[in-house]
Amino acid sequence: MNQDLEMVVGLEMHLQLKTSSKMFCSCSTEFAAPANTNTCPICLGWPGTLPSLNQRAVLYGLQGALALNCEINLESWFDRKNYFYPDLPKGYQITQYQKPLGYNGTFRMKKKNFAIQRVHLEEDAGKINYNNGNMEIDFNRAGITLLEIVTEPVISSPEEARSFLRELRLLFLYMEISDCNMEEGSLRCDANISLRKVGEELSPNQVELKNMNSFQSIARALEYEGKRQSKILSEGELIKRETRGWDEREQKTYFLRSKEQGFDYRYFPEPDLPRILLEQEFVNSVGNNLPQAPGERQKKWMEEWGIGDEEAAVLIAQKPRAEFFEKTACLAHPQEVAKWIKENLLQFDFPLEIPPEYLAEIINRVEEGELSSTQGKEVLQLVLETGKKPGEIIREKGWKQVSDEVYINQIVEKVLEENPEVVQDYFSGKEKAIQNLIGQAMKISKGQANPQLVGDLMARKLKEREKNG
Ligand SMILES: [Zn+2]
Repeated sequence: MNQDLEMVVGLEMHLQLKTSSKMFCSCSTEFAAPANTNTCPICLGWPGTLPSLNQRAVLYGLQGALALNCEINLESWFDRKNYFYPDLPKGYQITQYQKPLGYNGTFRMKKKNFAIQRVHLEEDAGKINYNNGNMEIDFNRAGITLLEIVTEPVISSPEEARSFLRELRLLFLYMEISDCNMEEGSLRCDANISLRKVGEELSPNQVELKNMNSFQSIARALEYEGKRQSKILSEGELIKRETRGWDEREQKTYFLRSKEQGFDYRYFPEPDLPRILLEQEFVNSVGNNLPQAPGERQKKWMEEWGIGDEEAAVLIAQKPRAEFFEKTACLAHPQEVAKWIKENLLQFDFPLEIPPEYLAEIINRVEEGELSSTQGKEVLQLVLETGKKPGEIIREKGWKQVSDEVYINQIVEKVLEENPEVVQDYFSGKEKAIQNLIGQAMKISKGQANPQLVGDLMARKLKEREKNG
């Protein structure tokens, strides 16, 4: 891309809300049901039917808008967006146009705040599948609950777009209001991109990008489009206002349709649905009860518990893992807990079969010198395999590390008595001879003596003997 130019990107995301029924009827939202089985006269748009609003969708939408720090319209409503398309049985989509649920929001990421223009509720359209030259329409998706999130044009690079989407997805997974699964279509994203001379106003000729089905393809499409537009501008031409698709196989964008005409959707308020009226008190209570955002949790771990950047990122990536970590970290040293999870538990699916108390107990026993760290790891392994309590396994295996000084002293004395030659070697300067003695003491204790303590006592006794001649 030309150095004098900067990229300006706005994103438009559609999130399927985790409701079990559709937005305006009681049809199931189950994924991958046989085509056209999750349908009824309402979502098929038969004449004379009336929609009724899914209350949970409104609650989830409100939670989403509040998590993005939006201002909330206490009175909002649905509008009809009229257009013809085979996957739209009613001939219009019910959406929020004039009064979205939320507006003027901010999504806070570590280094930057991103302005959110609006957050609104709408229903999904059906899906068209092409099969052996036939066009097949599946209305199972028609009427599915969606939350649309539109950012201001505040994203300045493909990489930033990707990390924005990654973090936003994590936020909604933590909120548990959407599965955010791109493969199943429960998270979709379009992008508006244009280039401007550094410091200048936004160019009005935005290109809209569609059909990107992973965060990576969004980043690649933006990258490609940045180069394409930069080249056109450097040749003294203007960028055409158009919608372009992303070709995954060819790794390039292609012309879909011109936006010159500006389609008229003849929006008007949906007459079959009452307005959504929210009380400020209710909005406040929803806002006060939002789950803690992943970004905030990570910040707390790093600032208060001294967890490193990289470890925090690994732990936050899944909510059940993060919760296991937090609970365990309240019972044992947080940095040790992070280390133990990272080294021993990442291959497991969370939530684990064992409670956080078990891991905490193992870590504490290791920290107190009661178990060696190798023994601790073995105990953890057995706890995971058998579900038994750590204490039970330690007793059964006789792995309890002995830190009884009187007992260890006796062993040390015995070893010194029985090995005068080795002791002599040590006195004559062979410092490594002490390892031989420690090894024998450990053997006598059947590996259960605290090795640190054995080493200390051995060194002390040797010193005493040397002094006494
Ligand atoms: Zn239905």
